[in-house]
Amino acid sequence: MNSLLEVQDLQVSFYTYAGEVQAVRDVSFSLGKGETLAIVGESGSGKSVTSKSIMRLLAKTAKIKNGSIRFEGEDLVTLSEKKMQNIRGKEIAMIFQDPMTSLNPTMTIGKQIIEVLRKHRNMGREESAKRAVELLNQVGIPNPEKRLKQYPHQLSGGMRQRVVIAIALAGEPKVIIADEPTTALDVTIQAQILELMKRLQEELGTSIVLITHDLGVVANMASRVAVMYAGKIVETGTVDEIFYESRHPYTWGLLASMPKLHEHTDELLAIPGTPPDLSDPPKGCPFAARCPYAMEVCYEQLPSYTEHTDTHRAACWLQDPRAPKVERPLAAGG
Ligand code: SF4
Ligand code: MG
Repeated sequence: MNSLLEVQDLQVSFYTYAGEVQAVRDVSFSLGKGETLAIVGESGSGKSVTSKSIMRLLAKTAKIKNGSIRFEGEDLVTLSEKKMQNIRGKEIAMIFQDPMTSLNPTMTIGKQIIEVLRKHRNMGREESAKRAVELLNQVGIPNPEKRLKQYPHQLSGGMRQRVVIAIALAGEPKVIIADEPTTALDVTIQAQILELMKRLQEELGTSIVLITHDLGVVANMASRVAVMYAGKIVETGTVDEIFYESRHPYTWGLLASMPKLHEHTDELLAIPGTPPDLSDPPKGCPFAARCPYAMEVCYEQLPSYTEHTDTHRAACWLQDPRAPKVERPLAAGG
């Protein structure tokens, strides 16, 4: 695969009054050109910390302890802040969950888009004003000329997220990192925004890292999936491998907690228990305390990855030939 972004052995810790919290623990993955990789997991699994590391937008209390993040061969971990500013927005853009965190409330929509065009695409005043209209058209915002003169608070949540996408597209980045891009929106708008992202990706060939806790979104959008738990990638595979041939009990739990389509139920089978405390991570499998299949070895030793195909691997002791055979329970979603 022709990979654009290559994360290798990434370790990120937060330093708090309670000590070191190991938020990301040896995460490796790659992103190909034009591909959508979904990173899935519950909140606190390290998904957002991973994406912020790529952008080098971590909080001051966090530190990349180890690993590399290669973008077109260059390691972003060691890049100067000055060079990083040329990457952010221009090569790699980010879309956050809450559009208000990425929009400036005191600036018109037009000004915010034009700023990116002038900075990253070296456009003049007139050209960028024209391009801003095109971009709003492209993300499906009616009356773009009027909208460009408005402030973020004058738009609905769905419209604001479209503006955020337009700003992300303005720099013509090779990679877009979308962190829960639709979580704050209602279901119909969610579907529209996802459809929009998908269409734009097909048109523009952008690579996407999609961060989500929602496997329904994954099925629709991604080509490959990395499942994160307690700061680690516990399983990775193509969408089909994850949905139909998953080998990890945590992934099974996530699949079972998907709402069933066409069925009236508000009852989700959440995975009982809570993730481990990452200021003192367990020495064995991080999922052991919640796993219905946990064996003695699971508490004692970290499972290593077993490769099932070129694209599919999982870190679980059940893959050991000596482990008892366990059938994956039928997922609620499929
Ligand atoms: Fe469960 Fe053991 Fe597999 Fe961890 S290694 S997911 S505890 S069976
Ligand atoms: Mg998050």
